[in-house]
Amino acid sequence: MDKAPTLRDALHRPLRDLRISVTDRCNLRCPYCMPRETFDDHQFLARAEILSFEEIVRLAGIFVNLGVRKIRLSGGEPLLRRNIERLVERLARLRCLDGSDLELALTTNGVLLADKARALREAGLDRVTVSLDALSEQGFRRMSDSRFSPARVLEGIARAQAVGLGPMKVNCVVRRQVNEDEILPLLRHFRHSGVVLRFIEYMDVGGCNEWRPQDVISAREILDRIGAEYPLRPLEAAYPGEVSQRWALVDGSAEIGVVASVSQPFCGDCNRLRLATDGKLYTCLFARQGLDLRAPLRAGEVDAALAARIASCWQLRDDQYSELRHIQRRQPGRKIEMSYIGG
Ligand code: SAM
Ligand code: SF4
Ligand code: SF4
Repeated sequence: MDKAPTLRDALHRPLRDLRISVTDRCNLRCPYCMPRETFDDHQFLARAEILSFEEIVRLAGIFVNLGVRKIRLSGGEPLLRRNIERLVERLARLRCLDGSDLELALTTNGVLLADKARALREAGLDRVTVSLDALSEQGFRRMSDSRFSPARVLEGIARAQAVGLGPMKVNCVVRRQVNEDEILPLLRHFRHSGVVLRFIEYMDVGGCNEWRPQDVISAREILDRIGAEYPLRPLEAAYPGEVSQRWALVDGSAEIGVVASVSQPFCGDCNRLRLATDGKLYTCLFARQGLDLRAPLRAGEVDAALAARIASCWQLRDDQYSELRHIQRRQPGRKIEMSYIGG
């Protein structure tokens, strides 16, 4: 039975979903997220600045008591964090904290997944989402600015499926004139595989990707292109607050999703809170400021006091950046980067 009280923000949205960024480092340099010009000389967080596994687990326990029912590990590239499976193992134990369900998921670029999949599954991870923006070698190189091959990511996806980390989702960010020609090849590849392929509108996160509205291919346009080859029918949302609109190929060969955060924002249902690698808490992907939990945690504050800080942060939350993008984009201050806060 679900015993946690429902904490509501200023717009009456419940707290349900916690994203934890476990590292700000990455082995890829996707230009839409960590462009080389900015990140090759970037000062990444020092070890002492990063929350330890003990600290993450303690905070996660407090979040679960406040109503969080889904924890997703992200980054940077979460599989670069040493012994990440030990963190998963400890988070999995939070399941019995108050007898209610807790889903544990992880988002990865898949490069290290083939080696890690079994250990993650055995540690108690439920699901993995893999980001893959292109199937062709050239397209993958363009989207990831790396020398890795997409074959390595596909191997990771296959391993994850084989060990039961499903149902698998594969995320593809679509950028006009960069990887728009990969949409249909990706779909053809994943038909009949059980993988749900989700196309994500390119977003104006952070401050270094030089995002322009004309580089976005809208979800509508993506669906039209797919629908011209494979007729589609809409599916119901799987749960309240789901960010992806679900569609099925009429021939039954695949389910796909589109995440229309630019063209059809969904702030009204947003139940997500984000804990960055250094212990700052953010109430929106496009936030400019976060609440530091690391200082009080390291100063010995007790759980009840930390819980009160988090609850008050959520109760004051009125973020709706995507709904108000045209106004919010003009606000002063630098937005946090996606590689720091996670997906
Ligand atoms: N490194 C892991 C990965 O790529 O899956 C996890 C972190 S990454 C920041 C999480 C997700 O954010 C990825 O699916 C990535 O494609 C997405 N992302 C990053 N920058 C984006 C942008 N500007 N617009 C849309 N999605 C973006
Ligand atoms: Fe790394 Fe993921 Fe950002 Fe690409 S999207 S640079 S893989 S953190
Ligand atoms: Fe949630 Fe912020 Fe995205 Fe709106 S813009 S859906 S409030 S993270």
